[in-house]
Amino acid sequence: MAAEPAPDVLDAFEAAKGFMPVKEGLALYAAAAEAAALGLPLMEIGTYCGRSTLLLADAARAAGVSVITVDHHRGSEEQQPGWDYHDPDTVDPQVGRMDTLPTFRRTLHRAGLEDHVIAVVGRSPQVAALWNTPLAFVFIDGGHTDEHAVADYEGWAPHVAEGGLLVIHDVFPDPVDEWTGQAPYRIYLRALDSGAFTEISATDSLRVLRRTGAVV
Ligand code: SAH
Ligand code: MG
Repeated sequence: MAAEPAPDVLDAFEAAKGFMPVKEGLALYAAAAEAAALGLPLMEIGTYCGRSTLLLADAARAAGVSVITVDHHRGSEEQQPGWDYHDPDTVDPQVGRMDTLPTFRRTLHRAGLEDHVIAVVGRSPQVAALWNTPLAFVFIDGGHTDEHAVADYEGWAPHVAEGGLLVIHDVFPDPVDEWTGQAPYRIYLRALDSGAFTEISATDSLRVLRRTGAVV
């Protein structure tokens, strides 16, 4: 049986604000737990309020590695005021813009998982440009435009260590299922086409690929 999160973490996950259904979350946790055994850090692109981060943190804690989670915390296009995925509680009234960092910090603190997570506040491509450490696991769950998804793939996929996992969320092969576009699906196809990754599982819109080739 695949590894499962600690019961208190699962409760915190189910209570947390965010965009990760339970079934996909369990698949995400199982992949993170498996990859963490490589003894290298786990990377998440797209923190939002920390819902998925909780699961990665639990897997990292068990393996004695860290999670790095990257987000500018100003929200994706479809999360802005007036759009379908907007939550007014995420707006900082003093600034008049979204700021999901405070909620993220509360989520992690309440679950007792702060010590296992390094939060990076910034734009994914800017952080990727400075990154130079092999990763056991990269979870791409950031912006859904082609510009963002392509930059996430190009910036982070090369850092997945041989035998490590690349996980992509919101992969919708059928355009009728699409709610924020098919950019994640296109980077998933690109990863497979590159010859560097092999698919190992699919759970609804979550795809888990293993790095099996040298050149991304
Ligand atoms: N993993 C979260 C959901 C992430 S939503 C969960 O489980 O609930 C997508 C997030 O990506 C948003 O918080 C948004 O601010 C962030 N994001 C979008 N484009 C980004 C970019 N280019 N750099 C950093 N963060 C980005
Ligand atoms: Mg998502």
